[in-house]
Amino acid sequence: MEPLVDGWGREIKSLRVSVTDKCNFRCRYCMPAEGLEWLPRDEVLSYEEIARLVKVMAAMGVDEVRLTGGEPLVRRDLPTLVGLLAETPGVDDLSLTTNGVLLDRLAGPLVEAGLTRINVSLDSLSHVRFAEITRRDALDAVLRGLEAAEAHPELRPIKINCVAIKGFTEEEVPALAELARRKPYVVRFIEFMPLDADEAWSGDQVLTGAEIRAIVEERWPLVELPAKASSTAKRYAFADGAGELGFVNPVSEPFCSSCDRIRMTADGRLRTCLFSRRDWDLKEPLRSGASDEELTRLVRNAVAHKELKHRIGDPGFVRANRSMSQIGG
Ligand code: SAM
Repeated sequence: MEPLVDGWGREIKSLRVSVTDKCNFRCRYCMPAEGLEWLPRDEVLSYEEIARLVKVMAAMGVDEVRLTGGEPLVRRDLPTLVGLLAETPGVDDLSLTTNGVLLDRLAGPLVEAGLTRINVSLDSLSHVRFAEITRRDALDAVLRGLEAAEAHPELRPIKINCVAIKGFTEEEVPALAELARRKPYVVRFIEFMPLDADEAWSGDQVLTGAEIRAIVEERWPLVELPAKASSTAKRYAFADGAGELGFVNPVSEPFCSSCDRIRMTADGRLRTCLFSRRDWDLKEPLRSGASDEELTRLVRNAVAHKELKHRIGDPGFVRANRSMSQIGG
């Protein structure tokens, strides 16, 4: 089948699937303290529906699938979905992004079902500051989840995602860098983006990758590592060989020109950019009996309209109509 190529010539290889918009954390850069209005249950795609849509996209060349949310581990029986996707022809790389709080019990069943990679979000190694940013006292549970993941050598790499916020994250950098040196975790700093439901983001709250690198290098020199062209992260090794850090710099160094990603929300809407102002409904056609060929056409049409780039920082930038937890980060 013809590859899935957007209107600017970029081939789409990677799909992020949100399995729920619900979350058990309330991270300040993502969700309000009181939560959001959750999708009604019957609006959320079933595992069979997700697997059908992934099969259709995998037939077009999407070979990387990442499960996310909301918090994907709050959805019941997630290993069942992992099992269905692991068996889907064409899906070579199946991963999960989680806050890690339920990973302790689920790491084993997820690996057994066929999960091969995992990203765990972790913004602070101090109990007080972890609770301040996530509004949950759950650092120990997350660290237990990471240990559980580490016990499965099939699950590699283990990546840690830290959202970098000016005035907060500077203080966390030495401990997180030290974690990357001590443990088999790649610690990645992600620049704060205007996707918070509170709409409190401003450009001066972004702590850039370059600023964090400078903090790390005061103590530990780094050397740049080669990265895949489509990679979101710049990779660095500690010069003494003790571990790896990554910097995802969508604000200070946008990587839209090599973007090969699309996203599907928990209610089956295809989004071609984190900052899309529109999305493309696949649930309704799926539920009213569309054939694989019809679904293929709908996906191709959405992808043909993929945005050239996000416009954070441009005058007149308009935020997306959904927040990160409602899109699937
Ligand atoms: N609940 C899961 C988790 O915590 O990883 C998956 C969903 S979460 C929305 C996915 C990722 O998006 C997390 O690493 C989170 O830190 C990141 N994120 C959320 N809001 C963000 C923002 N405003 N800017 C940058 N990253 C953000």
